[in-house]
Amino acid sequence: MQSHARAVVIGGGVVGCSVLFHLARAGWTDVVLIERSELTSGSSWHAAGGFHTLNGDPNVAKLQAYTVSLYDELEALSGQSCGLHLTGGVMMADNEERMNFLRYTHAIGRALGMETEIITPSEAKAMFPLMDETNFVGALWDPVEGHLDPSGTTHAYAKAAQKLGASIELRNRVVDVTQDPYGSWNVVTEKGTVKAEHVVNAGGLWAREIGRMVGVELPVLAMEHMYLLTETVPEVLAFNAETGRELAGVIDFKGEIYTRQERDGLLLGTYEKACVPWSPIKTPWEFGHELLQPDLDRIAPSLDIAFRHFPTFAEAGIRQTINGPFTFAPDGNPLVGPVQGLTNFWSACAVMAGFSQGGGVGLALANWMVDGDPGHDIFGMDVARYGDFTSLRYTNAKVRENYARRFSIRFPNEELPAARPQQTTPLYDIMVRDNNAVMGDSWGLETPLWFAPSAAEARDELSFHRSNDFEHVGAEVRAVREHVGVTEIANFAKYEISGEGAEAWLSRLMTNTMPRIGRLVLTPMLNERGKLIGDFTIAKAAENRFMVWGSTAAQIYHMRWFERHLPVDGSVRIHRFGQTLVGLSIAGPLSRDVLAELADIDVSDAAFRFMDYREMDIDGCPCRVNRISYTGDLGYEIWMEPAYQRTVYHAIKAAGQGHGIVDFGMRALLSMRLEKNFPTWFAELRPIYGAFEGAMDRFVKLSKNDFIGRQAAAAERETGPKARRVSLVIDADETDVMGDEPVWARVGDRDYGLVTPPHGYGAPRFAADGARTPPPSPQRDGDWRVVGWVTSGGYGHYVQISLAQAYLPAALADRAEGDLFQVEILGRRYPARIALEPPFDPSGARMRG
Ligand SMILES: Cc1cc2nc3c(=O)[nH]c(=O)nc-3n(C[C@H](O)[C@H](O)[C@H](O)COP(=O)(O)OP(=O)(O)OC[C@H]3O[C@@H](n4cnc5c(N)ncnc54)[C@H](O)[C@@H]3O)c2cc1C
Repeated sequence: MQSHARAVVIGGGVVGCSVLFHLARAGWTDVVLIERSELTSGSSWHAAGGFHTLNGDPNVAKLQAYTVSLYDELEALSGQSCGLHLTGGVMMADNEERMNFLRYTHAIGRALGMETEIITPSEAKAMFPLMDETNFVGALWDPVEGHLDPSGTTHAYAKAAQKLGASIELRNRVVDVTQDPYGSWNVVTEKGTVKAEHVVNAGGLWAREIGRMVGVELPVLAMEHMYLLTETVPEVLAFNAETGRELAGVIDFKGEIYTRQERDGLLLGTYEKACVPWSPIKTPWEFGHELLQPDLDRIAPSLDIAFRHFPTFAEAGIRQTINGPFTFAPDGNPLVGPVQGLTNFWSACAVMAGFSQGGGVGLALANWMVDGDPGHDIFGMDVARYGDFTSLRYTNAKVRENYARRFSIRFPNEELPAARPQQTTPLYDIMVRDNNAVMGDSWGLETPLWFAPSAAEARDELSFHRSNDFEHVGAEVRAVREHVGVTEIANFAKYEISGEGAEAWLSRLMTNTMPRIGRLVLTPMLNERGKLIGDFTIAKAAENRFMVWGSTAAQIYHMRWFERHLPVDGSVRIHRFGQTLVGLSIAGPLSRDVLAELADIDVSDAAFRFMDYREMDIDGCPCRVNRISYTGDLGYEIWMEPAYQRTVYHAIKAAGQGHGIVDFGMRALLSMRLEKNFPTWFAELRPIYGAFEGAMDRFVKLSKNDFIGRQAAAAERETGPKARRVSLVIDADETDVMGDEPVWARVGDRDYGLVTPPHGYGAPRFAADGARTPPPSPQRDGDWRVVGWVTSGGYGHYVQISLAQAYLPAALADRAEGDLFQVEILGRRYPARIALEPPFDPSGARMRG
């Protein structure tokens, strides 16, 4: 075995082999994959081999589309068949809510170039005649679905990698991973040690154990999963003979099952509610090519439904039941990228759909290792989206919840209950018990969403439409806009950056100039490619001391970036507060009067101006106060240690009583930010957009000192951004956008090139009469064309209009005509127009006043 390598990949499942292939294809040939047994000795060998492109996160969907498109190239390169069957698939809905979910899924696919179609149950039956279609109300057809040979595909990656110069070392377990003081890794195996610059953890079922070798507890857990294989089914053979085609794959939401043709029979798998984790604490090293004991009782409720919906199953003989483990992260998406706190230690694990996602994971990781950037927006599968709160029990509860909901729809107002409450602020009981708050999960922290009039009403009625919170959120917004409100803001990331190099360092990372002492700035942060990777509020608290606020869910992602760019001379120190600093915000025209009653210093407009920062006592409690508010109104953010939070909250409520103060939650806050056209991180601001595309122009100071991404940002401004963030007013009633909906424009033949063109897999499907029907264009309808997409939106309760933020081609971004745009919500297209000015307080007089 070689003693040195540029990179060692641990694990020869489909993911490790894909990473190895992509590294070699990117030119890193001094790379070795180490596998403890034979290739596919984890979950890869007994997979059902299904693949698809649909994913709730459009950016992950793009990488799934890449994976599927790679298989032809892989076969050609390796000479190894992947056993590809591109059959297409149907997702079956049995009620109107599930149909709404399919309409939404279909619509968001338009801008991604997906050629899905909403079809009738009879049309679905034409492609899978073994169903009793009377159980369903409709379906979604996806031509880019199918199945493959898991072992063949894994070997195809491996052979292609070897042909490009990479090595594979079999039957050799990695027993430890250590790091030299100067950074190089020692991968200790049963047959000796390999020194490497980079290590990739692609350990699949053992990824957790490999993480532990370097002191990291990855939030990953294996679940048992069962599927059945039937004997020969004559109806299947008859369909094949008659049509010359294989059966399409089927997902049945009601039964939580998937089924498809496997040779002459059928395969049926379930994501049962009574799911069971496998090896919850530690995966045994001796586990290999064996299967787990099947437990048909556990999946009996799903089988009952399967027998009704697909009566053939009731008669078909079961040839084999497979029960095997595979891994999940708490949200079901992979854990990919550099692990924060370590250098050149990479994660490529928790890939639950290795045959849909393995290629995309390999591509993104190889880009990242070779070029320093994944080249795609992969936040949805970035290992840094989790923090230290993902303990073993947390992960266990969330993974079970995710598994049991694999085919459940998630409503836009749905908060998932598992592992909650976990983190709470000192106000939790007051909010829930006294104030009837409906709470949400904000990166593990309980956060008030809205306040109900009584305990009995304090719950969300799940819906794709405006729901029972509507009037109450509206009342909160009106109270803030007309008087004053208070809300919790503990769910921000907060950092203190100090040291004599702090200012220069921040100025090198951020696009805006740094503030003077006692002042605030808003600033994006860019990567080298000039793309948005952060959005912060920064205060200069004192000489060499800055306070920084950002997105809570991005704090490990940002810490990783900060640490990567930290000077080695110790001149800059970073402290991440987590929940050791919590906060309250008061906002509304009377908020200054409330503050004045509690502060010992002058907080008049002259003394405490818009965008000022002060450290002051509030009712005798030491606080840090920003004169700024995400409501876009006069307002203050007040930060304190948790021990002071109850006192400050009670004092604010008491002082505000005479001013009509109300509690308001996150939903009211987000409604108010929409009325001001303010963007949010993760929705409008993401690493696929440039600063000028994101309309962050006034926060990007190209003429200040050099900063990361400056050259790329200057080039973007020079050539003009391709896309532009806009605010849309939509003529919608009853339903507002949820995010990712397509924006149509009446532009005739003109192609603005922003949306992904259809990827060309739009295979014709069978109509109920057996005829082949050509796919309609997903992006054209007469003079109307899909030109962009929505990023987020909702109802602006004060201005009383439905609003959305969206990305459009820059050439259309200032076209304010009333009949040019439409937004597709749940299958219906609503007229929309661009709001060039914020609908609320366009001059900003309120927040400055
Ligand atoms: C019943 C079942 C059905 C499934 N159906 C599908 C499906 O239809 N479609 C789909 O896309 N996915 C499916 N999956 C999931 C799929 O199998 C996984 O997504 C995929 O196998 C993950 O691959 P991996 O490379 O991450 O992990 P693994 O396949 O677990 O590979 C990890 C490898 O690392 C090696 N290894 C671990 N530790 C060490 C060490 N210390 N030293 C050396 N080597 C080590 C192991 O021996 C193993 O070979 C299914 C899984 C199961 C169990």
